[in-house]
Amino acid sequence: MKCPACRDLNNRVIDSRLGKEGDVIRRRRECEKCGRRFTTYERVEEYLPAVIKKDGRREPFDRMKIVAGLKKACEKLPVSLEAIEQAVDRIERMLLDRGEREVPSSVIGEAVMQELYNLDTVAYVRFASVYRSFQDINQFMDELEELLRERRRQQRERQQGGKGATARPAKPAQGGTRRARART
Ligand SMILES: [Zn+2]
Repeated sequence: MKCPACRDLNNRVIDSRLGKEGDVIRRRRECEKCGRRFTTYERVEEYLPAVIKKDGRREPFDRMKIVAGLKKACEKLPVSLEAIEQAVDRIERMLLDRGEREVPSSVIGEAVMQELYNLDTVAYVRFASVYRSFQDINQFMDELEELLRERRRQQRERQQGGKGATARPAKPAQGGTRRARART
């Protein structure tokens, strides 16, 4: 780091302090040549990647867009806004962890699907049927079948387990599959 007075590169740190939020370190430095004191700041560099759309165009990552999509999918379902915000936090964290400058929209679509699946299965099916252009249709059907298989398995366990057997009468799985197919 060059001295702002004499441009010399040699200086020593005389004080180092962590910012109140813990996200920045402030260092007081002293130039070894002219004695001038100056301050530098160090912080983590984190940028969300740009999103590569299907047609190849790039657009900035838009948190509000994902929150809005999840809210829409969870409309009138027992899912809190807080749970949605946390889901989007996890998606952002995953994108930051990739450490890439650009990411295909399908990666975000898959992450959204995964979060929705955990939030509410009805919301998951609703979202998947509306936004399935995120992925190819075969993958969508695979996911839907997987979901229905899982639901049937849970139903069986509930029936066998006795306790909670009457918890809630799930919709017949087959009907769901047929409806989804009919729409494609
Ligand atoms: Zn200097």
